[in-house]
Amino acid sequence: MTIIEVGSARAEQPGRFDGTLKLGVFPDGQPVETPVVIVRGKADGPVLWMHAAVHGNEYCGTFNIHAFLRTLDPQEMSGTVIALPALNITAFRDHRRMSPLEGFNNGDMNRCFPGKANGGFTEQMAFAVYQELKKYATHLVDFHTAYTQDTRWALYAGVDGVAEEGNKMARAFGYANCLPTPAGTLVGSAMMTAAADNIPAFIIEAGGIETAFSREIVDDVAERLRNLCRAVGLLPGEVTDYGPLTLFSNFHWATAPRGGIFKPAVSSGQQINEGDVVGTYYNLFGEADGSVTSPASGIVLAYHPGPIIPQGDVLIHVGLNPTQN
Ligand SMILES: [Zn+2]
Repeated sequence: MTIIEVGSARAEQPGRFDGTLKLGVFPDGQPVETPVVIVRGKADGPVLWMHAAVHGNEYCGTFNIHAFLRTLDPQEMSGTVIALPALNITAFRDHRRMSPLEGFNNGDMNRCFPGKANGGFTEQMAFAVYQELKKYATHLVDFHTAYTQDTRWALYAGVDGVAEEGNKMARAFGYANCLPTPAGTLVGSAMMTAAADNIPAFIIEAGGIETAFSREIVDDVAERLRNLCRAVGLLPGEVTDYGPLTLFSNFHWATAPRGGIFKPAVSSGQQINEGDVVGTYYNLFGEADGSVTSPASGIVLAYHPGPIIPQGDVLIHVGLNPTQN
């Protein structure tokens, strides 16, 4: 077997190998390191790269990876899983979306790929990760969350060369609502960057930020990931059919036009029409103080849960032009 080596995790035989990948250096001289797990099967095959917490407070993804890794037996695998459960480690530590060490623009790591060796802190981290991803990955799965526990949708890179395999991953994972992401959308995401390098790539949006997710969500994701592995030939067994997908042409984000005490009137997965009320504002006397409506029709993918919404925060995220496939 050839050697698969990411940072200090090194696999040249079947088994599980833990290590860390250095992403930088703290001001006090200590290394910025993120954990890496390689699980290598008894035979070679696809290399599924997965990472979570690109946005540091989206902890559900970390739990998803841990739960999935616990199910793996190298003796039944044909291929390798490379997993980074807490990629943006400085943001993860600080319960934040973006790194507190980012001093300049472009701190959203999922807009920084493939990174820059001589860029800002987050761009340098992305560069260190992407070199390894590009070297080994045949498939990419990236874990995210929105705000609320009922978040449950997926995206794959719907661009030439990788769309078909991405669709296969999406069907095998089986979250019904899915965006075949067109070129020009989510530029700088690991998903679209990998796709441009001919690596089929998939994002799972499951559960909410911080503690807004459940053990049931995590266990369900782990089983669906196993099904994805069966579909790409990494695990043996029949692929479960989760049914048709509802595919979108794109998505639309709307931001809050004002701050306030906010009570949402929608939930994830529901159909919404332009002009429908998304939620109501209240003043500090407890009186209703106006409502806000959806600027688009489609399926609700994510929404702000309140109770306090800052002006300009994500109000609602809508999947456009849903069609069953
Ligand atoms: Zn995210």
